[in-house]
Amino acid sequence: MSHHARRSIPADQTLRQRVAAISDKLIASGMRYDAAPLFPRESVDTIVAAGLHKTFAPGASGGQPFDDALSENAALLDVLRGIGRADLSLGRLFEGHVNALKLFAWYGGPDQRAWLGQRLDEGQLFGVWATEPPPGVTLVAGDGGTHLQGNKSFASGAGGLGHAVVTARMADGRTQLAVAPADDPARADLTGWRVRGMRATVSGSYDLSGLPCTAMNLLGQPDDYGTEPRFTAGAWRFTAVHLGGIEALLAETRRGLSEAARSDPLQRLKFGQAVVAARTAYLWVREAAQRAAIDSPDAPAFAQMTRGVVERAGLDVMELAARMIGTRSAFDGQRIDKIIRDLSLYLRQAGPDFARDQAALAWLDRDVWGDGDELW
Ligand SMILES: Cc1cc2nc3c(=O)[nH]c(=O)nc-3n(C[C@H](O)[C@H](O)[C@H](O)COP(=O)(O)OP(=O)(O)OC[C@H]3O[C@@H](n4cnc5c(N)ncnc54)[C@H](O)[C@@H]3O)c2cc1C
Repeated sequence: MSHHARRSIPADQTLRQRVAAISDKLIASGMRYDAAPLFPRESVDTIVAAGLHKTFAPGASGGQPFDDALSENAALLDVLRGIGRADLSLGRLFEGHVNALKLFAWYGGPDQRAWLGQRLDEGQLFGVWATEPPPGVTLVAGDGGTHLQGNKSFASGAGGLGHAVVTARMADGRTQLAVAPADDPARADLTGWRVRGMRATVSGSYDLSGLPCTAMNLLGQPDDYGTEPRFTAGAWRFTAVHLGGIEALLAETRRGLSEAARSDPLQRLKFGQAVVAARTAYLWVREAAQRAAIDSPDAPAFAQMTRGVVERAGLDVMELAARMIGTRSAFDGQRIDKIIRDLSLYLRQAGPDFARDQAALAWLDRDVWGDGDELW
């Protein structure tokens, strides 16, 4: 691994301050959208007004210039965890948006990046929709040109986002990325999105059938989407949002701890364990972000191990918080209750055991953390 990854990265204080400045507003609107699950327009508007939806866009689309990829990921880590601390649903939407910006940066042509810049100027948020019920979404060539056919499921922001980058299967079985409008409420079906947490992500299904695909809508070449190491390593971004939720839960627990609990060594022991879990998660996410920034071949295994570490930390802090705070942690309208409900669903990312097993396989081969100080 390059020596760059060891450099200590100065945090982008101004960006951190911009997130901190809107945090209370996001917490308040997040609580409201949790109670009445709708696309969180007001929260998204707050992000857009702060300009954060453009920060990580390609330069040609109006993104902020960073010195290098390491500084960019350090800044992105701060923003993802900062928004996640305020509201995990909004963090999920923002993480999907950043994923879409990355796909434009990696696979978009100059016209497409310019087009993206115009949409961002209009305040649009993007998403990435890959999950689908069978038979999935296909690209169909017809007399009037090519169009999309089929539905996406777990489509965060269905009917509320401006556009989504979607995966579509071609006739030869390969996967093509296509950019589709995502803002038609008539195509969104939210009736099945009746969930314990993450309600404001409105991750319902979305019918893409009949939407035209011209050269302008097709992003990159077939099978670009799964290109490694960036595809698997990119999981670090959602672990950063999870981390924000864990940190917010820890902060709320500290705030809510009764005097009786504070003066009890058994409760303090739990608090100490929760601090270690949250900070351990942070250390792994920070490392994973750095390795992803330099496209290290180890970045995928690192991100996969990080997913397991963050999942474990989240589960532990949820249990510890409930035991420290008691029944108050489960009451409607309590922030601890919302964070626990959101986190318990959001931690269910696809194939968690598979990810851990892949990481273990890589570590069996060599010490992936290593960096000149390998254990074997
Ligand atoms: C809030 C939220 C928002 C989301 N937003 C989006 C989005 O915008 N775009 C998008 O594309 N997706 C999105 N997703 C979907 C997400 O990426 C995953 O596809 C989804 O969470 C997987 O759900 P599942 O647990 O039902 O998975 P499943 O794959 O059905 O797995 C269920 C369980 O079965 C077991 N299992 C499954 N497959 C295997 C296997 N091969 N080997 C061993 N065990 C297995 C595992 O124990 C697993 O936990 C979102 C999910 C959530 C929760």
